[in-house]
Amino acid sequence: MGANALWRLAERGVRVVGFEQFPVAHPLGSSHGVTRLFREACLEHPDLTPIAQLSKRLFRELEELSGQELLRITGGVMLGAPDSDVIAGTRAAASAHGLQLQELGPDELAARFPLLATLEPTDVALLDPGAGVAFPEPTIRAAVDRASALGATVLENTRVLAIEPGDDGVTIRTASGQWEADRVILAQGAWLAAELPWVTLEPIRTPMTWFEPAEGAPAAGFGLDHLPVFVRQLSESEVLWGHGSVGAAAGPEKGALLKAGIGDIWQERVRIDPDALDRGVTPADWRQVAELLGRAVPGIDPLPARVDPCMVTVSPDDQFVVGRSPRHPRVIVGGGDSGHAFKHAPALGEILARFALDEPQIVDVAFIDPARFA
Ligand SMILES: Cc1cc2nc3c(=O)[nH]c(=O)nc-3n(C[C@H](O)[C@H](O)[C@H](O)COP(=O)(O)OP(=O)(O)OC[C@H]3O[C@@H](n4cnc5c(N)ncnc54)[C@H](O)[C@@H]3O)c2cc1C
Repeated sequence: MGANALWRLAERGVRVVGFEQFPVAHPLGSSHGVTRLFREACLEHPDLTPIAQLSKRLFRELEELSGQELLRITGGVMLGAPDSDVIAGTRAAASAHGLQLQELGPDELAARFPLLATLEPTDVALLDPGAGVAFPEPTIRAAVDRASALGATVLENTRVLAIEPGDDGVTIRTASGQWEADRVILAQGAWLAAELPWVTLEPIRTPMTWFEPAEGAPAAGFGLDHLPVFVRQLSESEVLWGHGSVGAAAGPEKGALLKAGIGDIWQERVRIDPDALDRGVTPADWRQVAELLGRAVPGIDPLPARVDPCMVTVSPDDQFVVGRSPRHPRVIVGGGDSGHAFKHAPALGEILARFALDEPQIVDVAFIDPARFA
């Protein structure tokens, strides 16, 4: 969110400084790990669809500017009982915004996506043609590089220690000095929780897991074309998401790996301190996802090939916290990602830039207004 806000402000010719406590596109926050699911029929809230559509346009703009692939639209399949959160939420977003979903019957599902065809007889499968994968690290670098090229100052390895808003401006303190700004955007991911006492943001540890085909299973079937982005609700509290191998675009080491995870907002949450995140890996990190994968996708080796810790920061209503701080008009807040914000990050950057400059918004942002918790 911060990288994209920096880009959108720099694009308008605003004098802007970006502070990052680690190097840009580091693996210690919430935005690393090769891919993120992109969906246009956003099951988490119908008003997210216009934000996803704005994001898509900005992803494409950034691709043009950087000459890199940042978003690959392949279509995605949502699976579950008709009244499940995943199916009902996807349908609600599609019908609110006139998106065409295709319901795949069992034969068509089996013919097109055989690895996703192990459904209960009452389950349905919806194809969202606007879904795909975004590539987070290159997107962040592209946004920051473009902002730098336009004159933004980027301070890496520079932790902001204090933000002091006053009547005439905001003082920003770091170990190496002090900055005076007209406005400040706080887009601190998991670290934002400690800054906003008026809303309960819960950073939680969320491992990312990659799996390989079981011995004897043909690796060719595990590419993104055969095993596209999917979200499957197996029971009220069990949601599995994933996608097949993205192939060479993500680097040769990624091979034929399938990425999968569990839906965090359906899980019990254990709040963590982002400065003390346990970066070790134990079987507890992958046991549940391996078990769900065993029930949902045949032919996968249940032992993960790779596990990386990550974090999401959940808000009380599982929606973002993006807008002007109810405590100070010079402070703009961008956080509470609730595990589904990367696809929206370019648009959220644009929204944050508009708040910072008092420009009117071009999409509905009432449902993510921080003031709802104040
Ligand atoms: C396992 C997993 C799967 C996910 N899957 C998806 C998905 O499929 N689709 C999707 O859209 N989203 C997904 N998400 C969520 C998505 O990755 C996050 O919503 C998004 O990356 C959050 O971005 P952010 O800008 O809020 O946080 P971050 O990217 O963590 O950025 C915050 C930055 O602020 C910096 N910072 C914090 N405090 C300070 C300070 N005091 N001074 C200087 N710098 C500071 C941090 O170092 C960090 O770089 C997933 C997340 C996880 C963990």
